[in-house]
Amino acid sequence: VPTTDTTVTVRVPAKVNLFLGCGLLRGDGFHDLTTVFHAVSLFDEVTVREDDELSVEVSGEGEGDVPLDETNLAVRAARLLGERLGIRPEVRISLHKGIPVAGGMAGGSADAAGALVALDALWGAGLTREALHAVAAELGSDVPFALHGGTALGLGRGDQLTSVLARGVYHWVFALAEGGLSTPAVYAELDAWRADADPRPVSSPDAVLGALRGGNAKALGAALDNDLQVAATRLRPALRRTLEAGRELGALGSVVSGSGPTCAFLVGSAADALTLAASLSAAGVCRAVRTAHGPVHGARIVATEI
Ligand code: ATP
Repeated sequence: VPTTDTTVTVRVPAKVNLFLGCGLLRGDGFHDLTTVFHAVSLFDEVTVREDDELSVEVSGEGEGDVPLDETNLAVRAARLLGERLGIRPEVRISLHKGIPVAGGMAGGSADAAGALVALDALWGAGLTREALHAVAAELGSDVPFALHGGTALGLGRGDQLTSVLARGVYHWVFALAEGGLSTPAVYAELDAWRADADPRPVSSPDAVLGALRGGNAKALGAALDNDLQVAATRLRPALRRTLEAGRELGALGSVVSGSGPTCAFLVGSAADALTLAASLSAAGVCRAVRTAHGPVHGARIVATEI
């Protein structure tokens, strides 16, 4: 039985990988990654309140595609945090989605991070950032970055994070595709393709990091790079046309976001973002478009109602 009516709401950003270098498959089934994460202003909101039992409800963009059972990443986050703190996770979790589902922008990971921050506050646990990070890393490779936000270098499975120096604000257009792509399927396609083709030499994030240090959007556009892009476009050839259209329409650079199928386009200003978004829509090369800027903060409490 709930003892309080308190609700805590946390806002969590989507991510785009400015660079994603994928090493060979490891013995444990994971790939060693070198990635540069960048948090952008598409947000999910996670609200928690005490209840009789653990449950989740979802509203917003793509709500019908989000599972409401134990596989929901916010539910898994509540279970794991409860276990760690010795608290029964009898809470109602409300997710309001602004991050495209299964789009390669880590929406599920964002919800897990949001649930951790919200429940830490609701339960008055006062965990340190480091302690939350450790729980986050157990939930998934992208969850620690959703806590962290900003722009960060990720190593290992992507969960070993270091902040990177990034000057300025970057403006983005995201082209959302019909239907999602499964992250494991994209990695499997990359492994299959690499087994057949001569793998290209391992690339480095240096050009991306240099452009960020200098606040140089043009150089960043030219340096955007994602090893998963070849696999995502093999599974979804229509993405080639989308990427090409964005470049023809004047984007500074284009890249498939994470495992796709969302395509990210860097432009020079907020006004350019609106123009490119309208042109991509008119060209009919995607399901929907969104504009955003980055970097933005990681998971943060935006409201507490008692
Ligand atoms: P990533 O880039 O981290 O691989 P993604 O952005 O491609 O992920 P998500 O939006 O995280 O994709 O969703 C991937 C799958 O995870 C969905 O198809 C869905 O079934 C499942 N899922 C579990 N929990 C959630 C959640 N809270 N929000 C969205 N999807 C979730």
